[in-house]
Amino acid sequence: MRLVGKVALISGAARGMGAEEARLFAREGAQVVLGDVLDEAGEQVAAEIRQQGSGATYVPLDVTQEEAWSEAVKTAELTYGKLDILVNNAGIAGYSKGDDDTLEDFDRFLAVNTRGTYLGIRAAIPAIRRAGGGSIVNISSISGLIGQKYVHAGYNASKGAVRIMTKSIALQYAADSIRVNSVHPGPIRTDMTKAVWSNPEGRQRTEQATPLGRYGEALDVAYAVLFLASDEAAFVTGAELVVDGGFTAQ
Ligand code: NAD
Repeated sequence: MRLVGKVALISGAARGMGAEEARLFAREGAQVVLGDVLDEAGEQVAAEIRQQGSGATYVPLDVTQEEAWSEAVKTAELTYGKLDILVNNAGIAGYSKGDDDTLEDFDRFLAVNTRGTYLGIRAAIPAIRRAGGGSIVNISSISGLIGQKYVHAGYNASKGAVRIMTKSIALQYAADSIRVNSVHPGPIRTDMTKAVWSNPEGRQRTEQATPLGRYGEALDVAYAVLFLASDEAAFVTGAELVVDGGFTAQ
């Protein structure tokens, strides 16, 4: 097992990649705190993990709210004694409607994806420092690496900001033994992308654009996050790990 004795806080863990990361981390020996705005689904994932014999606690966490982040970090320390790992996974996305793209959507992508990630980092750093060091994994996207005409530009901007912010925070906290890295998933089959993959035409278009010829699954990304969270990545900080079936290699 690769995370024995570790305590992890994962945002957006009620479904999709966040839920898969929580399940995988627990299987690898970690105790997990799951945060989300979908309380019922989040409670359910935590209960399912507890049934498998691991420690798991759900906390209501809107990542745009600073107070909610301090409560989530406090829950980790009070329940499991410390915090070693933060996964900033919560996010929202949207496709471009051309001239109809709204400023409200732009602001919301920045608020949840970028500011929400920064608030998580700010809340977790003192606790991870108290634990003697640890790992922060920020879920960006290939949308933070390349332009895409069919994606709301605000989503690209929000994920590009996560990528570069990750590197600054990595430099600022290296002396505290806190590693900070970003993960860049390509098209992954979750609720976020359901409108496309549930439509045969959209699905075929994505599969053809992906050299490995398929959508990624949440577990494909969870394994990459697991590596960065674990001590196996002890010399990895400020890095970006792309998990996209070759999408951005072309
Ligand atoms: P998802 O929609 O299935 O899950 C996202 C989770 O984040 C949901 O449980 C949602 O309730 C939660 N969330 C949304 N706003 C929140 C908020 N304000 N506070 C707390 N939780 C909030 O999507 P997913 O595909 O699992 O996405 C996970 C992450 O991966 C996101 O950051 C997303 O941008 C990123 N990503 C997804 C893909 C993809 O193809 N699915 C590709 C690249 C990056």
